[in-house]
Parts: sequence; C-alpha cells; structure tokens
Amino acid sequence: MKKKLLIIGGGFAGCCVAHLFSKLNNWETTIIEKNNFLGDGVRTNWYGGHPYTFGPRHFLTPYDNVYKYLNEIIPLRSCAEHEFLTYVERDNDFYAYPINMSDVKRMPDYDLINKEMTEKKGENFIGSKNAKNLEDYWIGSVGNRLFDKFIDKYNKKMWLVDDCKEIDTFNWSPKGVTLKDGPRAAWTDIYSGYPYAANGYNDYFDIATKEAKVHFNTTFDYIDLEKKEILINSEKHKFDMIVNTISPDLLFKRKFGKLNYLGREFHKIIFPVEEVFPKNVYFLYYANDEKFTRLVEYKKFTHHKSPTTLVGMEIPVRDGPGAYPLPFKKDQELAKKYFNLFPDDCYSLGRAGSYLYGIDIDDCIRQAMILCDAVKSGSKLKYPVPGDNYKF
Ligand SMILES: Cc1cc2nc3c(=O)[nH]c(=O)nc-3n(C[C@H](O)[C@H](O)[C@H](O)COP(=O)(O)OP(=O)(O)OC[C@H]3O[C@@H](n4cnc5c(N)ncnc54)[C@H](O)[C@@H]3O)c2cc1C
Repeated sequence: MKKKLLIIGGGFAGCCVAHLFSKLNNWETTIIEKNNFLGDGVRTNWYGGHPYTFGPRHFLTPYDNVYKYLNEIIPLRSCAEHEFLTYVERDNDFYAYPINMSDVKRMPDYDLINKEMTEKKGENFIGSKNAKNLEDYWIGSVGNRLFDKFIDKYNKKMWLVDDCKEIDTFNWSPKGVTLKDGPRAAWTDIYSGYPYAANGYNDYFDIATKEAKVHFNTTFDYIDLEKKEILINSEKHKFDMIVNTISPDLLFKRKFGKLNYLGREFHKIIFPVEEVFPKNVYFLYYANDEKFTRLVEYKKFTHHKSPTTLVGMEIPVRDGPGAYPLPFKKDQELAKKYFNLFPDDCYSLGRAGSYLYGIDIDDCIRQAMILCDAVKSGSKLKYPVPGDNYKF
C-alpha cells in the first residue's frame, strides 16, 4: 500500500516536493493550497499583454543538478549576460551590483575609498567575521564610503529599520564577491536563466503536481503534527508524512507568538517605448531616499515582443503579499522554537517554511531534493530542511 504524504502549500517548494515524491512511486500525495492556483508569486500573469510575475523571479543557481532538473522540465533561456545596476544619487551614477573594482575605480571619491580599503586590507571579507550586525559586516569589508553608497539606505528601506545595526543576521548579504574585477565577475560561476515559455514557470506547477491530489482554496481547521492528523473542511485525514511550506507558527496556533514578515507593494508600469533599461540590464536598484527598492523590466527575461514595455516596482511594507522572513536574531530564534516542535516524519522547507530570506527558487528545489534523498535512504534531517545557500 502507498504511503500518504501531505504537503501544506502549493508554491514552488510544495510543487517540487510533490514532483520528486511522485518519482518514488510509493507515495500518494495530497496538497492543500489556500489560493485557487499553484506557484503563488512565481506564477506568470499578464498586464497590458505583458507577462509578469510578482517581483522578478530570475532563476539563479550554482548547482548543476538543480539547473538540469528545472531545465529538463521547462527549458530555460540563459540570462548569463544580465546585469544589476544600482543608482547612487551622491555620484549621480549607476554602478553594477555586487560592487566591483572597475566601478569603484571610476568613482569621484576613489582615492578616499581606496585609502579606506587599504586600511581594511588583510581583513577583507573575513575581517568582519566578528561582526555583530550588517553595518559592521560591510564596513569591515569595504569601508564606510561604499557602505554608505550601496548598503546603508538600501537595507534600511528593504527591512524598514532606522539603522543597519538592527540587522543582526547577514549570511544572505553578498559581501563575499564585492571587489572582484569587473561587473560580470560576480556571475561567472552561476547559472542564470528564465523559462522560454511565454507563461514562465506555470507549466512546471502543472507537471510537478500531475500525480498529486490538489485541494485549492483549502487550508486546515486543525492540525496535530504528532499524530499527523489534519482537519480539512471538517473532515479528519491521517498521513504518514507531512511537509510544511508555510509559516511554521501557523501549525502551532502561534503558541510562542507570531512570526513576522515584511511584504511588498507591487506596481506595474507600462512605458510607451520598446525598451527602457540599457541592453543587458535586467534590474535597477535604488540605494537612496526613494521608497522603492528596485525596478525590473520584464522583457529582459521574457523576450516578449511589444512596442511597449512593462516595468515592475517593489516597495517594502509591513504586511502584504510576497512575504520576506526577517533577518533579525530574535525572529530567527522564535522560528527555531517552532522548528524544535517538529516530530519525526514532519518537515518544513521553502522560504516561509524555513523562515529564511536566503531561500530562493533554486533553494526550494535543492531542499526538496535533499528531503527526497533522505527519505529514500531512511536518514533523518534537521529543521528546517537544509539547503540554504547564498549565490554570490
Ligand atoms: C518579490 C519577490 C521576488 C523574488 N524574486 C526571486 C528571484 O528573482 N529569483 C529567485 O530565485 N527567487 C525569488 N524570490 C524568492 C522565491 O520566489 C521564493 O523563494 C519561492 O517562490 C518560495 O516558494 P515557497 O513554496 O517556499 O513559498 P510560497 O511561494 O510562499 O508558497 C507557499 C504556498 O502556501 C500557500 N499557503 C499559505 N498559507 C496557507 C495555508 N494556511 N493553507 C494552505 N496553503 C497556504 C500560499 O498560498 C502559497 O501558494 C522572490 C520572492 C519575492 C517575494
């Protein structure tokens, strides 16, 4: 008889777990998804005829097997030429991000920056090992001037804090590649892609869940992880394994308190020209007093043909969709208290399911692969399922 797997949430992570378990043949999978569609913010929608997702969903990964897995199901167009630029108002210039030496050398205050960096020499990248917060971490590596230009205001608005010292976890921050030589240097050992299909990742969600029972517009009234019992639409169901991909506090009636997230207000803007951003520039980041963090021109990914172009703008907000787990120790500690309650054969993964901002699409796939391998070999995993990796 087949074993029964319940997946809570039909976002990228939930769909990927369903797909990998369908290949094990001895599992019957049920997904409950509160929306009436799969994929959540990664799903492609259309505005003014343009395909778009809720914020960019650029596929980046350092892992061969992760790239190969997705590329075989939904072929990916290489975006290897992509660049991210940051607008720095005090220089009235755009520089590539992550920060690189060729841009630093053309900055008006290069001499002063160089002096600061020389003082940091020897400590570079590792000098901030003892850093207590994001500010220490960056200043210890690149000095005050580059921190001020790229990091300080951007992260204050990104995380809605008054001071980057409040950000006391920072393993997600791409400091380790700063100061490579050219604007492309940060991207040489990583796959960068986006689906060729006009509907983006949408087919993946259908293919991945083909063999699963998917209950849309569905959540649970009650769940007992220990017994693996769940009440769905007033009916009791029992499973052999549960994989959670939603905020873990929701499984425990928030008994230790609510896990907080930041959301994104998302604006879609059509421009009456074929392309707005320079060739190869996919993202523009704004590191000044603007309320928005970044803009994305979707055509760069989708290659959609139109005399107009669609740009998406993200503004961080306290609540709202597109949830970002908070990079503060106290919130991370709270999440750990919930993970410690997970009994055997219950797992948690994905962005909210791991309560880690560093979890991107490729990490969801990697976590699902790690889980599936562990189940196959009968080994135990820690919580959340490991696999987090920052790509820079
Ligand atoms: C604005 C934005 C831009 C991003 N850009 C990129 C990018 O460019 N590249 C990249 O790799 N990653 C990007 N990411 C991150 C990436 O998209 C996520 O890591 C990934 O989509 C997370 O998938 P998930 O399944 O873990 O979570 P989710 O997509 O949040 O899926 C969870 C699912 O659970 C459902 N759900 C919630 N509560 C319940 C409940 N009570 N009962 C049942 N179902 C429930 C939700 O409706 C949702 O479908 C971005 C994220 C955001 C927010």
